[in-house]
Amino acid sequence: MAKAPIIIVGAGVSALWCALRLHPTPCVILSPAILGRACASSWAQGGIASALGPDDSPLLHAEDTIRAGAGLVDTDAALALARLGPVEIKTLFDMGVPFDVDQAGDLILNLEGAHSRPRVARVTGDAAGKAIMTTLITQVRVSDHIHVREKWSAHGLLRDARGHICGVLAKSPDGGIEQLLGRAVVLATGGVGGLYATTTNPREVWGAGMAMAALAGAEILDPEFVQFHPTAMALNRTPAPLASEALRGAGAQILNGHGEAFMAQYDGMGDLAPRDVVARAVAKEIQAGRGAFLDARLAIGAQFPELFPSAFAACMENGIDPREDVIPIAPAAHSLMGGIATDSDGRTTLPGLWAIGECAGTGAHGGNRLASNSLLECLVMGHRAAYQLADMDAQARKGVQALPLAPLPAEGMMRLRRAMSAHAGVVRNARDLQSVIELVDALEAQHGTTGPTIVARLIAGAALRREESRGAHYRSDFPHPHEVPEHSALTLRDLEEVLPQAEQA
Ligand SMILES: Cc1cc2nc3c(=O)[nH]c(=O)nc-3n(C[C@H](O)[C@H](O)[C@H](O)COP(=O)(O)OP(=O)(O)OC[C@H]3O[C@@H](n4cnc5c(N)ncnc54)[C@H](O)[C@@H]3O)c2cc1C
Repeated sequence: MAKAPIIIVGAGVSALWCALRLHPTPCVILSPAILGRACASSWAQGGIASALGPDDSPLLHAEDTIRAGAGLVDTDAALALARLGPVEIKTLFDMGVPFDVDQAGDLILNLEGAHSRPRVARVTGDAAGKAIMTTLITQVRVSDHIHVREKWSAHGLLRDARGHICGVLAKSPDGGIEQLLGRAVVLATGGVGGLYATTTNPREVWGAGMAMAALAGAEILDPEFVQFHPTAMALNRTPAPLASEALRGAGAQILNGHGEAFMAQYDGMGDLAPRDVVARAVAKEIQAGRGAFLDARLAIGAQFPELFPSAFAACMENGIDPREDVIPIAPAAHSLMGGIATDSDGRTTLPGLWAIGECAGTGAHGGNRLASNSLLECLVMGHRAAYQLADMDAQARKGVQALPLAPLPAEGMMRLRRAMSAHAGVVRNARDLQSVIELVDALEAQHGTTGPTIVARLIAGAALRREESRGAHYRSDFPHPHEVPEHSALTLRDLEEVLPQAEQA
């Protein structure tokens, strides 16, 4: 019993960092794919923010985070992120992550939109996520206390007679379901982008952790705050490759199909306006039939392959040479600001259940996430949770119940993803949001309570209740913010009268 492991669900930066920091406490990682695949972490391009510059401070970083968050940032969470960040980046650097450095060997810190100081560390321009993951995977593979189950996924939580979460229903590579008992369960399943037809996220990342936690009765914080990246490449590819903000930082311009640089009409900051403003403007031009494009020909031109190798490769694979052609763009679901409500160590409202990384709602991002704070949060929260979990005692488990998610067939998932993009996307209104909930009801009547329908219900339900526009949540029928900002803190029971009975295992 003393050796019962901590079960970590997911294998992105937050999961791997937590597992490494748990040393020597035994843990199991469930990864639906080979390590490094099917996670947003490997695709992160811009970099990772922390107050490491000579004229910077954690206080300034926290202030920028709070300003970006549209009145909903939890000050303590933002301060913790900013204060603990620099140590985590230094540790990554010492572990061998090949961050870009100057001739003296010091980290090069880049300026990004809405940051008041240069503080974003990058790896060969736009390959930060892949490089960090490669380093962490190497460490995980040689760590005796970590047992990785590749091609395994979780499909529900286990709860004991006292109401403590004590394990997961794990699906093996051959499709068999096994009860995996552990000292505690850490959800690290990433955001919800995969629930949208147009997204920058891997399809596998659709909010499974949020669904499992919600079905077990956990509180969910601000699920309606989904950030849409304004300049995903519209190349008929799912997921959509990203043309990151760094391209606009380097001078690339957003144009419509008539060649007009329209952003100045929408915001004084033009192309460098906040993400939500640019996303709405791009959506509007597309809806008006004028289209939207990113033009990097003059500003970046021949330097494109060297400065932005990932974006260049994505363009060339789709027959677009960004040195000579404009890149078609569209807003795409990118990251989740809310999530499973947690305290500053990753504890959810259910005993035994923890959440870290993008699936967790710590309040650090409020209604709008400051660019490059996401990877940082994965590190800080992964570390904090591990610190607490390492001391946790093993408990005897009696009367274990399973709370399984029903599967949603591919056709239902396709309908749901399309509905989420069309009706719970950049611009929302009551009628459209209601239509998502009606679809969810219809799908659940046919297939039972599935993970994707739970997440869609939470997002659309909270968006419907929030009768204002704030941060990334824009309602055309309520275009102004309320005077006093308020969080959405809800359980599935708040949105749904009847929950399925737990299965006695
Ligand atoms: C294209 C792109 C660019 C980005 N650029 C940046 C950037 O420059 N800087 C920055 O800070 N952030 C960036 N982000 C955001 C950042 O990458 C994510 O917020 C962060 O990596 C999330 O890490 P995570 O560990 O929480 O989740 P992920 O890395 O998404 O990992 C989630 C894991 O959970 C697994 N999983 C899902 N469901 C199940 C299940 N049922 N059972 C078991 N496992 C499951 C997935 O397969 C995956 O392994 C970017 C995101 C994208 C998509």
